[in-house]
Amino acid sequence: MSTQHHVEVLVSKSTFGDNIRHIREMVAPAKVCVVMKANAYGHGLKGLAETAVDAGADMIGICTNPEAATIRELGLDVPLFRLRMALPAELDESLESLNIEEQVGTDEAADYLNEAGLKRGEPVPVHIKIDTGMGRSGYYPEELDKIRRVAQLPGLAIKGILTHFPTADGVEIAPAEKQMAELHAVKDALADVLPEDILVHTHNSAATVRLTPHRRDMVRVGAACYGVRTSTDFLNPGELKPVMSFKTWVAQVRDIPAGKTIGYGGLFTTERDSKIAALPVGFGEGYPRGLFNKGIVLIHGKRCPVVGRVSLNITTVDITDLDEEVKWGDEAVLIGKQGDEEITFEEMADKFNSVHTEINLSAGFLNEITYA
Ligand SMILES: *Cc1c(COP(=O)(O)O)cnc(C)c1O
Repeated sequence: MSTQHHVEVLVSKSTFGDNIRHIREMVAPAKVCVVMKANAYGHGLKGLAETAVDAGADMIGICTNPEAATIRELGLDVPLFRLRMALPAELDESLESLNIEEQVGTDEAADYLNEAGLKRGEPVPVHIKIDTGMGRSGYYPEELDKIRRVAQLPGLAIKGILTHFPTADGVEIAPAEKQMAELHAVKDALADVLPEDILVHTHNSAATVRLTPHRRDMVRVGAACYGVRTSTDFLNPGELKPVMSFKTWVAQVRDIPAGKTIGYGGLFTTERDSKIAALPVGFGEGYPRGLFNKGIVLIHGKRCPVVGRVSLNITTVDITDLDEEVKWGDEAVLIGKQGDEEITFEEMADKFNSVHTEINLSAGFLNEITYA
């Protein structure tokens, strides 16, 4: 087996663990559900699941059965919570062997799980989803009769009640506070049928970072654990550091005279005699195509602009203004630090109206991940 030499996606287990430990301190005594859906936001679920448990994750949030299976195959019996509504086929499999706590937000799903619980003679652990504004799933707070019925189904073990904020990352925190109050009103109205130790959980990363003072038995944090920004309107605590970095090496240096076009579409023309470095990465390696004429790459500690279209496996960078001579094989940092400079996932994502997670995901899915 050969290894990749042309790109390095480096994921720091210790930084991931430190971020989780910091979040635990911030929210104690609340529990922490570390969200590891989408292959741990591209950072590699298999490589990081043990680190999450060692750092004190009380629960791991997943979406798919294969994600749950990956965690179980590592021998981890940490509680798992499915962060979305399940499909019947997923439940048929997961109820057998994966032991996932499901969320319930429709009568149809509740009845299906109830029957399964009765049939196997052991109630299925579920969390009741309340739709306080996200609009994707759950019972409305007004649907108390329906929720009461679900809470009393004998084939279900009610573990939690939750809602999800659509705007906790916005300037205004008032909408999230109102949603929390609505969730608590539901819980209080049904106190006679809900277990006393029911877990109330609402907070995603943005809400957690803001440390709103309401009852939070558990937070569900994804972005914050990976050290990526949780909002465009406020900063993360400085202790939360990026877990992934992304770099490559210069595959060619070339003098290109003024007046030549570079790349597909001929959309960039050199205005001066230029030195252009070609990098052996493109959107096939997860370097976003949207960074056409917008991306910045660190070479010799300086910020160098991407020129022309990002191709499937090649990106061209203008290095004319560098004082030192750039050599074939020199390091080029796509996301991360070099010398005194740093390029963040957020900075690059903002340039093409995306979110950092999209770059994390592509880089992590399309390349081998190196763990440090
Ligand atoms: C993905 C997800 C989260 C985590 O969101 P972050 O903003 O990454 O912390 C929390 N809750 C639910 C239901 C989710 O689907």
